[in-house]
Amino acid sequence: MKPYLQMTKDQLQQQKQILQETYQQLQDQGLKLDMSRGKPGKDQLDLCLPMLEVLNTTSNYQSESGIDVRNYGNLDGIVEIKRIFCEIMGCREKQLIIYGNSSLNIMYDTVARSMIHGVLGSTPWCKYQTPVKFLCPVPGYDRHFAITEQFGIEMINVPMKEDGPDMDMVEELVAKDEAIKGIWCVPLYANPEGTIYSDAVVRRFAALKPAAKDFRIYWDNAYAIHHLYEDKQGKILNILEECEKAGNPDLVYEFCSTSKISFPGAGVAALIASEKNIQSILQYMTIQTIGHDKLNELRHARFFQNANGVYEHMKKHADLIRPKFETVLNTLDKELSELEIATWSKPLGGYFISFHAMEGCAKRIVEYAKKAGVVMTPAGASYPYGLDPKDENIRIAPTLPTKEELELATKVFVTCVKLATVEKLLEK
Ligand code: PLP
Repeated sequence: MKPYLQMTKDQLQQQKQILQETYQQLQDQGLKLDMSRGKPGKDQLDLCLPMLEVLNTTSNYQSESGIDVRNYGNLDGIVEIKRIFCEIMGCREKQLIIYGNSSLNIMYDTVARSMIHGVLGSTPWCKYQTPVKFLCPVPGYDRHFAITEQFGIEMINVPMKEDGPDMDMVEELVAKDEAIKGIWCVPLYANPEGTIYSDAVVRRFAALKPAAKDFRIYWDNAYAIHHLYEDKQGKILNILEECEKAGNPDLVYEFCSTSKISFPGAGVAALIASEKNIQSILQYMTIQTIGHDKLNELRHARFFQNANGVYEHMKKHADLIRPKFETVLNTLDKELSELEIATWSKPLGGYFISFHAMEGCAKRIVEYAKKAGVVMTPAGASYPYGLDPKDENIRIAPTLPTKEELELATKVFVTCVKLATVEKLLEK
């Protein structure tokens, strides 16, 4: 079929009629499918079930350091889980705090603490007459933007390029505006574009010269080891090391968790930063909690044993989700490529495919999909305030549905894409 843009009005009308019929047939099936959230599938979760049997009534509940993990204490995490995180993330134990199950919770806490108490003795952000600001590479992760929005922090869009955020813009903005206090980053397999930050981008981040002394890079390394292909693994520089080399050791907070390694509902999360940052944060934390769930830390440590145990486990995840990504990508390719009405990412890892429709079509596509029983992430969600200026980006999350469900859901999706695009072209 020829590209839609080369079709005459009559040909487009004809297409519209055919698509409306196909859409009606799909709608009549009463489907209930969901490609909206990046959750692991049941088969991925099942892989970790033996972890629940690692500890039982006859287990030894002592950590290597001698403490009883069932009791209070050990605010920053037990030594055996720290060792595994350090090896994977490339940091020292003193640069790490082990938290509860959610890295998003740590990010929220970090922003909240900066608002209320400031950063290493700086003015608390809530004390300023006008709101402080964050840079937001777009498209990005909706829940990052939701945190800063909830605190009334003004968000400034920064376009994503092939190898990371537009660093010319980042450097210029942070250097001249003291109200800019942070930037959200997902450096590897970025949500949703799958972008891998290049070495040059990471080095430019590490060498930033922000006007605000309490500016921090929020380095959300959520997909640090979430590769889809063993032979094509994305690799990024170690931001903490680069910051040290650049003479900016305190510039970054790095976040990670085992949510998409073990269980999103019961994993282990961590914060990595300079010793100075960590010591300051621990002082505030002693008031918040006497310690996190150390039983879960021990369970994870004994189940995985070491970093290699985690890497092996992630290969099993990749084997389960790679075919799902390929199902969606193959259908997009087969159904949409020659029509030249959209582009999409072909990620090497992470949890998402980022779809770029013709300008002004994303909302309508998502609406059509919903009416046909396929839930997508709301159009606009990948932008601060839910405002996609071109109304063109849709995030596809292929991991939760089964392969059969995905085939059907993608079929519905491409029909909605074609229908919405034809309608848009006919309106012009
Ligand atoms: N960060 C990114 C970039 C994510 O995509 C997600 C989940 O989709 C999270 C964080 C959530 O992390 P956690 O489960 O550790 O709170």
